[in-house]
Amino acid sequence: MCERCESNKAKVSLQMEETSMYLCTHCYNDLMAEELEIDLEPLPETFSMKDYKGVNRTFCVDRRIHPNGIFLEAEENIEFGYKFAVHGELDSNQQELLNKLIEKARKGTGEQQVETRVFPSGQAYHAMISDQLTGLIEYDETSDGTPLVILDGQPFTWEEVGKMLMTYEGFQIKLNLYDPTDDIE
Ligand SMILES: [Zn+2]
Repeated sequence: MCERCESNKAKVSLQMEETSMYLCTHCYNDLMAEELEIDLEPLPETFSMKDYKGVNRTFCVDRRIHPNGIFLEAEENIEFGYKFAVHGELDSNQQELLNKLIEKARKGTGEQQVETRVFPSGQAYHAMISDQLTGLIEYDETSDGTPLVILDGQPFTWEEVGKMLMTYEGFQIKLNLYDPTDDIE
């Protein structure tokens, strides 16, 4: 529970002088905005859009005010769904930052990367549509230390990703990792 409002779930630990407080996002942002002398512009809590298949996807908007800037994150309201984040300076226009986040989500949900194909035997398999993948690394509690990779807003095991790569046997591979707020071209 948040130690300030005592009504929301605590999500952030705020270190002050010699104590630390567990706060909800709302109270954390209030305190940080006051401390950093910025305004919290009203933002919607959710937004929705259709993905590449025409399926409606709903995102929860999370704002965090940190001394090094404003972070906005849009996380889908399902487990292992899409997630997008942007970062702006403390004095940036928060509505414009939200628009940037929505644009990033629109771009990310608009393109299909993996499709299901069928072997002549009738067995289905996953295949990459182009020769690159953009996704998220998540914790896989069912595996022995390998991650889940979220692609097209759905989870794939490390083994499933490996099988997709087998179409490219003999090719070179280059693996780059990016901060959640980076733009990947
Ligand atoms: Zn609170």
